[in-house]
Amino acid sequence: LASASSPLRIALVPGDGIGKEVIPAAQRVMEAVAPGKFTFVTLDAGFELFKKTGVALPEATVEKMKECDGALFGAVSSPTHKVEGYSSPIVALRKALDLYANVRPVYTAGPAKDGKLGKHGVTPLGKPIDMVIVRENTECLYVKRERLFQDSAGEKIAYADRQISERASRRIGRLAFNLAVTRGRVREEKKATGAPIYWTSKPRVTIVHKSNVLSITDGLFRETVRAVQSEERSFADVDVNEQIVDSMVYRLFRDPENFDVLVAPNLYGDIISDGAAALVGSLGLIPSANVGDSFCMGEPVHGSAPDIEGKGIANPIASVRSAALLLEHLGLVPESVKLISAVDAVLNTDLLTPDLGGKSTTKEVTDAIIKEL
Ligand code: ATP
Ligand code: MG
Repeated sequence: LASASSPLRIALVPGDGIGKEVIPAAQRVMEAVAPGKFTFVTLDAGFELFKKTGVALPEATVEKMKECDGALFGAVSSPTHKVEGYSSPIVALRKALDLYANVRPVYTAGPAKDGKLGKHGVTPLGKPIDMVIVRENTECLYVKRERLFQDSAGEKIAYADRQISERASRRIGRLAFNLAVTRGRVREEKKATGAPIYWTSKPRVTIVHKSNVLSITDGLFRETVRAVQSEERSFADVDVNEQIVDSMVYRLFRDPENFDVLVAPNLYGDIISDGAAALVGSLGLIPSANVGDSFCMGEPVHGSAPDIEGKGIANPIASVRSAALLLEHLGLVPESVKLISAVDAVLNTDLLTPDLGGKSTTKEVTDAIIKEL
């Protein structure tokens, strides 16, 4: 894609709350790392829009996004109780573009120029980590088929269906194996240049499930992902490993340095990735990419953060790192690497937003990243 002479078209959907502050910041950084390479189109969606117009995701937003080469999505607020006629635009966009995987890298910052790891270079246990959580994005409990009944005593009883399919498990499994192989290769390349790497073993895929209880659904997920290994010769080298989801949470906090690529059904993936965010200090640091077979939509893991909205102090790093994932997907690998290093460099300074204990604004942190570039 990147070799095409015309600029790449990038859709920006700031959405609600701090999405309106961090997405323009990410746009500035993208313009700085690859001047002239992109044209941007800003599109509407969100709860604010719904309150004004009765529509959360206009048809035009979906259509225009489909004409783009990639997208960045900010955040939408989720009302805590059901609002008639409102459903989440992000869920609808993932469906419309068949973005079946949510890829969430969780890593501590690289070392400062003196080679030493800073405060954000280690987890609270004192070690650096570098893992990716691959969350299935289309099924599990998110098929949202719930029913409410009354039992014979007149008491309420509710059910929810949980769907796990071979097709969805296989494609998420393939994505996880491919990612593990690529990460393994990148580590080898880095090692050759003397750059620090925090995962020295061969590529590993850890399957997260609960098949000791849900033997049919989680059993199918586990077996289907395992079977992917025999599909390609390059997968043979991947160390396949599994964790029951409860023990996964325990291990995540006890020895996170043991994980490379985690692959999980939708709900477990959601829970684990918020937990993992705690390991690196702030939700404001964690990027994600919604990925399908051809399209990528970067999205910070955090929400609209109404408590800090409009104060100009939202951490732009999660969005900037999401832009880096998008660049990588678009084939702009050197630019992506440059961007990640610039963020690392800033994380080794005191120029940080309040969520990381600093006093700086969104704009100051963004300016600092651009200066590092
Ligand atoms: P939503 O319903 O949109 O998810 P929320 O109330 O759950 O909103 P989150 O955005 O999920 O809020 O954020 C949870 C907490 O983390 C809030 O206190 C918020 O201020 C903080 N936070 C989230 N993102 C950032 C960021 N980019 N910079 C600084 N703080 C953040
Ligand atoms: Mg939230």
